[in-house]
Amino acid sequence: MSMNNRGSGIWLYAERLPHVSEQHLVTLGEGRVPLVRSWRIGEKLGLPNLYFKLESLNPTGSYKDRISALALSLAREQGKTACIGTTSGNAGASVAAYAARAGLPYHVYVQENIIQSKLEQILVHHAHVYKVEGMGFNSQVGQQVFENVRTKAAANNWEAVITAFAYAPQAMEAVKTISFEIQEELGTPDAVFVPVGGGGLLAGIHSGFSDMLVSGQASRLPKIAACQSSGCANLVRGWEQGLNKPVPGDSTSLISGIQVPNPPDADLVFSALRESGGFGTALQDEATWHWQELLAVEEGIFCEPAGAIGLAGAVQALQEGRISGNDTVVVIISGAGYKDVHRTKVMTEHAHVPIISANEM
Ligand SMILES: *Cc1c(COP(=O)(O)O)cnc(C)c1O
Repeated sequence: MSMNNRGSGIWLYAERLPHVSEQHLVTLGEGRVPLVRSWRIGEKLGLPNLYFKLESLNPTGSYKDRISALALSLAREQGKTACIGTTSGNAGASVAAYAARAGLPYHVYVQENIIQSKLEQILVHHAHVYKVEGMGFNSQVGQQVFENVRTKAAANNWEAVITAFAYAPQAMEAVKTISFEIQEELGTPDAVFVPVGGGGLLAGIHSGFSDMLVSGQASRLPKIAACQSSGCANLVRGWEQGLNKPVPGDSTSLISGIQVPNPPDADLVFSALRESGGFGTALQDEATWHWQELLAVEEGIFCEPAGAIGLAGAVQALQEGRISGNDTVVVIISGAGYKDVHRTKVMTEHAHVPIISANEM
């Protein structure tokens, strides 16, 4: 193995990704995260073949690292002098780390109510951060920010890193490696439950399985299930109403990472659901929090709320008969628990931690 780790993590699939030459490759060890079988929750639900893909174990704690590694590698390959983007937190934390690694400045626009722990994770890498009024709940502002990032990037020869196929189609190819890994370890599952904000994660996972169907590495597609907060269920409502476009509306969801009132990859989400025989499902934030806690208590998996919405979606789909108890189901645990310290505080505030002397033990 070379110093650059070509041949490990997402780079095991380098020949299926956009070309990056050896000297431009930027990596921190992203990808190749564990796929673990449920030990308790699946049994209790009557869904024994339930698996969790632990994207929370990537270097900065979310699957965004797969994209950032490829984005910064491509930026160096193409001689870009900085990167610029927008984020609800995780993409920013990830790009900030990889930009620091690559030695490039990073300008990033965030929502005003960004979770402090995510903001700090961006700032430790000395990224240039700007808070934008209204971003994250007003759909017009979101659209305008995306367009401004694109314009500024083009004008300055900067790399635009918005983690959506609509804005960074080459870097987003890295998301497919999630599916390549699942296929290698498990074969094609019956269903994959994916949290959805902008839709890029879901579109990339579907695209990875589609590629393998075309190349003959897989003989069928898994059903892809789009899991959104009912406070920001623009795609799920559009799907249920048969519109094939999002139902617009502001976001009232309290779940960081999936508060995207104007999902840039909406079209790709709808075609993924159609092609795979999948569906959309909207979850109350309370349900997501509940399953976040159970993942921690019953499985030892500490994820942020967005990382647990897929499990909430799988439970609801089983109750509604959209999947069967015999199905092999993969839930994408997209982000790590330490990212949202608000939630950690709520989850632990009733814990009693007595102060004792050593001889009272
Ligand atoms: C970015 C993110 C999502 C949503 O991904 P999209 O591609 O925007 O749909 C979900 N969970 C976590 C933890 C994320 O960081």
